This record gives sequence, C-alpha cells and structure tokens, in this order.
Amino acid sequence: RQALAAWLDDRMPEPEARPGRSRLIVLAGPTAVGKGTVAAHIKEHHPELLLSVSATTRPPRPGEVDGEHYFFVDDAEFDRLVADGELLEHATVHNRHRYGTPRAPIERALADGKAVLLEIDLQGARQVRAAAPSATLVFLLPPSWDELTSRLVGRGTEDAEERARRLRTAKVELAAQGEFDFRVVNDSVADAARQVVDLIQASGR
Ligand code: 5GP
Repeated sequence: RQALAAWLDDRMPEPEARPGRSRLIVLAGPTAVGKGTVAAHIKEHHPELLLSVSATTRPPRPGEVDGEHYFFVDDAEFDRLVADGELLEHATVHNRHRYGTPRAPIERALADGKAVLLEIDLQGARQVRAAAPSATLVFLLPPSWDELTSRLVGRGTEDAEERARRLRTAKVELAAQGEFDFRVVNDSVADAARQVVDLIQASGR
C-alpha cells in the first residue's frame, strides 16, 4: 500500500508533442484496473482511432462477438499466426490463454495516419516497446490496492482460484509501472479516457 501511495504522489507528466513518436499507443496496467472499460469508452467516443482487436485462444464470454471483442481462435490457428509472423506481439496471460495483436491492421492504419490503441498485458507492452520503440506506453493505475481487489471480486467473471492468480499477477504488474512513458489513474472512466486521448492526440505530431 505504501508503495502504491508513493507512485500516486508522483505527478503524471503533462501530455506534449513528442517528436519521433509514432501514433501507436499501448494501454496496459494490472488486471481488473479497467483497461477494457477505458478502451471501450475511447472506442465509442473516438471512432477516428483504431482500437486493435486481438486474437485469443480464450473462449468467448456471454455477449462477446467474434471479430469485434476478439478474434476467437483455437491453438492450431494461434500457432499459425505466430509462425507466419502475423502478430506484432503475443503472450500467455495469467498462465492460461494466449493473446496476440494482429500486425496488418495496425500497419495499415498507421500508414493512413490514424492513431492506434492497443489494450494488452505487460508482457505484450514490453514486446511492443522492443519491436516498435517509437510507440507510447501508458500505464493505467487503480486508485488503490483495495479498489483493485474489489473491482476484481465485483466483476464476478472469475472463480476464487482464478481471482487469486490474477491478484498475484497484478502485484507483479504494478511493480513495472516505471517502465512506462505515462501513468493515468483510473478514478473515473471518463477522466482516464480523456487523459489517454490527450496522450494519443499529442503523439505522432
Ligand atoms: P480478458 O481475457 O479478460 O479479455 O483479458 C485478459 C488480459 O489479456 C487483459 O489483461 C488484456 O489486456 C490482455 N490482452 C488482451 N489482448 C491482448 C493481446 O493481444 N496481447 C496481450 N499481450 N495481452 C492481451
């Protein structure tokens, strides 16, 4: 808790034009911090941005649509995407399912001058940094550890064992926030989304 409080004392740098930056933005952060909600809010209000659709071997949750929330693929198809170099990054998340970012739509959008937002995990963010050093990495922080825990429980989509696994992952992930270019605290979805959009609009100009 102390460490978290210390991070929150640090002021986020003001968004500013960053020469040499591409229009590729990565939004990462610990599990259950609300990355998906913030990304969905941005998608709804900023149709001019491309929110990348990942491939995953995870089965769809109720209401999830293939090609919209994810491309749901089996292990063999995921292996093929990796072997053919079709993914910009890929990782096994929570020691379980595989997730990866299709490369082609991103390259097309960037070539058209569009900004692209990736909502991915920490391992993926590190791979993007290595593969595309001009990308901007944004880390989404929870207002507090307690808040993170209650969000994870409140979501109710995971059983106790899976929640414990995700909380362990979240602790490790929180410790990596210093690797990121910017940090945004997810106090309210609209505020956090606005801060991320400001960073997107300041990038690649
Ligand atoms: P969920 O299964 O709850 O939709 O997502 C689980 C985790 O996978 C989230 O932390 C999400 O950010 C991450 N994730 C989603 N798509 C990708 C991706 O393409 N690459 C990586 N590395 N992580 C992803």
